[in-house]
Amino acid sequence: MLLNKSEFLFKQAQKFIPGGVNSPARAFKSVGGIPVFFKKAKGSIITDEDENEYIDYVGSWGPMILGHAYPPVIKAVQDASFNSTSFGAPTEIEIKMAELVRQMVPNVDRVRMVNSGTEACMSAIRVARGYTGKEKIIKFEGNYHGHGDSFLIKAGSGALTLGKPSSPGVTEGTAKDTLNANYNDLDSVEELLKKNKDNVAAIIVEPVAGNMGCIPPQPGFLEGLRELCDEHETVLIFDEVMTGFRLSRGGAQERYNVWADLVTYGKIIGGGLPVGAFGGKKEIMDVVAPVGDVYQAGTLSGNPLAMSAGFAQLSALDKHPEIYVELEEKTEYLKKRLQTVLNEHELDYYLNQVGSMISIFFTPEVVTDFKTANTTNQEFFKVFFHEMLKRGIYLPPSPFESWFLSNTLTYDMLDDTIQAADEALGIAKLK
Ligand code: PMP
Repeated sequence: MLLNKSEFLFKQAQKFIPGGVNSPARAFKSVGGIPVFFKKAKGSIITDEDENEYIDYVGSWGPMILGHAYPPVIKAVQDASFNSTSFGAPTEIEIKMAELVRQMVPNVDRVRMVNSGTEACMSAIRVARGYTGKEKIIKFEGNYHGHGDSFLIKAGSGALTLGKPSSPGVTEGTAKDTLNANYNDLDSVEELLKKNKDNVAAIIVEPVAGNMGCIPPQPGFLEGLRELCDEHETVLIFDEVMTGFRLSRGGAQERYNVWADLVTYGKIIGGGLPVGAFGGKKEIMDVVAPVGDVYQAGTLSGNPLAMSAGFAQLSALDKHPEIYVELEEKTEYLKKRLQTVLNEHELDYYLNQVGSMISIFFTPEVVTDFKTANTTNQEFFKVFFHEMLKRGIYLPPSPFESWFLSNTLTYDMLDDTIQAADEALGIAKLK
């Protein structure tokens, strides 16, 4: 049988790379089939190795809010590269970047650049522990904060018991310091804070969850976390790796007007280059080395190419806040028309949208947390996903990932997507 290029490359890749991919979400595990290998993209159109074109709703899992190969980002990377790809010494662009972040997010007095969202979240909890002298952290089931050991912990048997490692290689010792609460459930948080009195360093939360599909915070949830943290002298960390610079200039903090003590960033902040960052109040950030004793470092942190790309992208967002309005209008347009199509097919669904993040759950349940997200019909999603792919629509290859829209999507592209969804849903219904 003649293989297409993605099939051929995937076979080759598996010979040298675990599972053929450098990050598991790419492997199409939850939807089955062969991952598509891409070679180029421009705006919202992404082209695979066989020259098939797709309308892209992944956007590299979030960074491409201004579309692929956004000219100012490309130019900034090209220009910077002529002056060396790395110094491992301070550069002016790092100051410009930090100032711009502060301008866009006023409670980030100090920011430290790292190389991924994972690093940002790992570092943020270390800082919270160093600052408070407390050991445990609370996170929420179904939130993702990267692959740091402390985050790969699931709830133990019975709600709200001690955590258990969710990956081999994570020790029980680490697991005991991570407590799992239920998203959108303040009572579960309060109970953990009471049970672990004076020993919870931080609550880390995705202010809008994007890693169990898109799930918004219920009214009062983020405000409640803020109050509980104040009451218990616990550091509130917003993981804005997905939501930062996406849901508004100031991210989820600005959108919901709830301000965390520490914030973590990734994705958009790097314009598609490997960047993460954590920052917050000066008082807390002053514990970070070399000012304080909490160690945190990186050979390539603040890398000139990465900073130049991120600065170009953030500058555009900073100068053109109308982008957020346009993006929201486009996403609402997509949502309304998807709802119409889903209703016409008489399907059970729950559709969540916040700003330019959106996802469909195929379930009769109201989806507000991990448990309800898990009621989505995964088999149905698989068929839907592949039928969309065949029609040139590249969705995240998992029922538990948010779609990320870019402002380079046109209304024609959105209409094509809706047409494809109509056909794909019709087929998925029959299977
Ligand atoms: N936090 C959140 C909310 C994320 O969505 C992700 C990645 N999807 C991370 C942290 C980890 O970021 P990275 O993959 O850059 O390590």
